Parts: sequence; C-alpha cells; structure tokens
Amino acid sequence: MNYKSTRDKNVNITAAEAISKGLSADGGLFVPDSIPQLSKEKLCAMCDMTYAERAYEIFRLFLSDFTDDEIRYCVNGAYNDKNFATDNIAEISHLLSGTYILELWHGPTCAFKDMALQILPYLLTCSAKKTVDGKKIMILVATSGDTGKAALEGFKDVEGTSIMVFYPEDGVSNMQKRQMTTQAGSNVNVSAVVGNFDDCQNGVKAIFTDKEILSKLEKANTVFSSANSINWGRLAPQIVYYVSTYAQLIKDKEIEYGEKINVCVPTGNFGNILAAYYAKCMGVPIAKLICASNKNNILTDFINTGVYDRNRDFYTTISPSMDILISSNLERLLYHLTDENDALINEWFNSLKASGRYEVNDTVKQRISESFFAGWCDDNETKQTIKKVFDEYGYLCDTHTAVAYKVYEDYKKATGDNTKTVIASTANPYKFGYAVYDAVGGNEECADEFDLIAKLEKLTGTQCPKALSDTKNKAIRFTGSVTKEDMPSAVLDFVKEQGAD
Ligand SMILES: *Cc1c(COP(=O)(O)O)cnc(C)c1O
Repeated sequence: MNYKSTRDKNVNITAAEAISKGLSADGGLFVPDSIPQLSKEKLCAMCDMTYAERAYEIFRLFLSDFTDDEIRYCVNGAYNDKNFATDNIAEISHLLSGTYILELWHGPTCAFKDMALQILPYLLTCSAKKTVDGKKIMILVATSGDTGKAALEGFKDVEGTSIMVFYPEDGVSNMQKRQMTTQAGSNVNVSAVVGNFDDCQNGVKAIFTDKEILSKLEKANTVFSSANSINWGRLAPQIVYYVSTYAQLIKDKEIEYGEKINVCVPTGNFGNILAAYYAKCMGVPIAKLICASNKNNILTDFINTGVYDRNRDFYTTISPSMDILISSNLERLLYHLTDENDALINEWFNSLKASGRYEVNDTVKQRISESFFAGWCDDNETKQTIKKVFDEYGYLCDTHTAVAYKVYEDYKKATGDNTKTVIASTANPYKFGYAVYDAVGGNEECADEFDLIAKLEKLTGTQCPKALSDTKNKAIRFTGSVTKEDMPSAVLDFVKEQGAD
C-alpha cells in the first residue's frame, strides 16, 4: 500500500515516508492509494481479539512497509493497561437499547487524542528508522489544549525523540494548563505564548521552514516532525476503534454481522469522523455518519449545502476542542469523493485560501448526503443535554459528547431512523468540569479546579480520573512564557539542551 497526495496523485510514497513527512510538499494530505477491504471472516475473527490484536490486523493493511514484528511492537507498546485505565482500551457504555456511547477517553490524558497519540511515537520512530535513519526527531506542537498534553504523554522519554509544546497563555482551561505544566519526562518542554492559538500555530509553522534554525538542527543531527491531526499516523489509529467497536458489538450480541449501525461524532478538524468513513469504506456495515458541531457550525452548513465558507464569526464555546473554522481533514474526504480528482482539490483549496470559500459540484454534494447527516447545537442546548442525560440515565458526559448526543436526538426526530447508533464520547467530563458542574445544577463558588472536582464528585456521585486529580500533587515544571517573536530562540535553546545529554 502506497500513499498519494490529495493535491498531486503522482506522489507515490510508502506509509513510513507519509508518517515521517506529515504533510506533502505540495500542501496536500497523504491518502492511501486504495482502501483495503475487511471480509466477513476477518471482521468476525476480531470478535475474540484484544484491542491491540485488532489494531495489529488493521495496521497490517495500511502499513505494508512495516514488518509484522514492528507493528506488534507498536500496538503492544501503546494499547496496554499501563497506558489505559481499562483493559478494553475503549469502553462501550449502553445508555438505552440501541444507543451506545463509545468512550474514547480512558487514556492518560482523558481525551480521545490519546487513542492516536499513544501509538504515534512508535509509528514515527519506526518510520524514521526507514527514512531518516540515525537522526533524532524533535516534535513541535501548537495546541489549544488536548493535543499538546496527549502528545507530551505519548512522546515522553521515547528514545530518539524530544517534544516542545506551545500553548496560548490565556487560551486553555486551568486543568489543561496544569496537565501540561506538570508534565514528566526528560525530553519534554512546554511554553506559554503571549497570544492566541493562531499565534502559536503560525509561530510553529514559521519555525518548520526557518533556514537558520534548520541548519542548526542539521548540526545537532535532528529533524523536526509534527504530531498534528493531519498526519496519517494519527488517522490510521482512529480507524481501529470503529472496526473494533463493530466487532465488540457482535461479540456482545448487540448486533449480528451485516447489521448496519450509525456513527455520530462531535467534530472539529474532521479527523475522528473521517476515520469512521474509512471504516465504512473498508466494509464495516455503517449506514449514516452523523457530524455534530457546536455554534461554529461551518461543517453543518457545508454538508447541507456544499458551500464551505469561513467568512463568518468565530465563537468561543464550552466545547472548545471543536472551535474550528478550517477542518483540515475534510480535504481527504473530498479527494475520495471526487474519484481522486487532484485538479479539483487544488482548485477548491486555492479558492479557500484566496477567498475563504469554495463550493463542491453536484456529484460530490450527492455523495456527501448519501453518507453524512449534519447538525449543531449551542452552549445552552449542550448544558441541557448534559443535565438530561444525567437525570435520565445517571450518565455524566462531557460538553463535546453532549453536542453529539443532542445532534443525534435531532437526527432521530428529523428522520425517524431507529438504526442502532454509536455516539463517540471524546473526553471525560472532569476535563471540562466547570461547564459540566454548571450544567448539572452546581452553583457553589469553586476556589480552584481541585475544589471543583470535589464538588462535582459530591453532586453527581461520579469519580474524577486519577490522571486529572493527581495533577494536584505534581510540581509545576514549566512556568515559561514567550512572545511570538521569541518562539524560535526557545526552540533553539531546547535543541541545545537536548543535544547536551
Ligand atoms: C479534538 C477533539 C474533538 C474534535 O475531533 P476532530 O478529529 O478534530 O474532529 C472533539 N472532542 C474533543 C474532546 C477533542 O479533544
């Protein structure tokens, strides 16, 4: 299996090259040149496998330049009970008959990013061995919260790598900040940036192509790489949990092989839901993909009209990981839906860059509506949903999951479709505790995030994961803050420090 670029289908590279590079030089994203098919036998055989074994089967199909031993090393290193709070890695909660909550947040940082970022360091170091052997890898991350911490946990103390994370000083929650600034590991660094997330992201992007920095990096025998969500090494692991969930539902006798299910995903950068689309294309019986957005509802409009228009207001919501106006992974979907028409992809994405807008053709609109349904809800509806789900089922969900739940309810009302449905739950409620506490009727003043945890536990009878409550006892290691202009020298200092040991 080789990989092409969405903007140039003459690109033809191995999985290891795609994962090492992250992004194609033409600005496109790497996509597999064919979609492997899962036969009934293969899928049913997965029923009796562990999560790591299921992952092994999927990765063998997509990473054909990796040896079996390498893939085993990767999946066993990532998906074990040391890294995840449950043997099953992902858990399926049964809310009511036919509605399943797929909990993707039992990893070390309590958000679904762990599902991919626990394995990415293994995939990346294996890939680097094949492509830039002997060089050290330095990961640079700009984060609005969840990705930074998940990447730090994934890469900490991984031999041959180091990682530096930049986050906006006033743009992350207290808990997210605490999680990052207390990060353990000898190869990690974290810095606040005076500015917003765009400043962090633009700063990191500029460093990637800064000639002076690159020449110093070369002397330190190091290359930069990225852990962001357009890397194929992050998308492939997300396909696994949709295949795994289908196998698990057969095993649990909730469905029979061949029975279709819907999948509903709270969506930001379109990575998670795209993974479900790949699973569908591989032959997992999935009917509708329900794309749930918050008030930043650009995807809802796109799926319903075929017009992608980012000339609109940006809203800060209580589901911040979905506060996005450019959903990068959508480009991969469009590449497949245009039958790999790279010229059209170039036309649309150039137009997005120039005018902030593009409109897809009727064939693509038609194909989108065959597979997708889209909806959105605002912060008030999100809170009401958290309260309602808690009152009715005693189940406490986070703000992102609640958006998905609400949109799924709207979908059922609009269509009358009673197909069994899996709702992706992307974060533990304690990660977004203030909004959740407020939603379930908590009205006491909280002294800090730990006081909040205690109050939310008491009010709901649920328990905060240790990974979050334990940050209270951890020393804060990273107090630094830099201006946008000083980001390059912060990186260079870190390169020097890492080279010294
Ligand atoms: C990243 C994130 C999302 C959005 O996922 P995409 O793959 O970007 O669509 C949703 N919820 C949470 C909690 C996240 O961290």
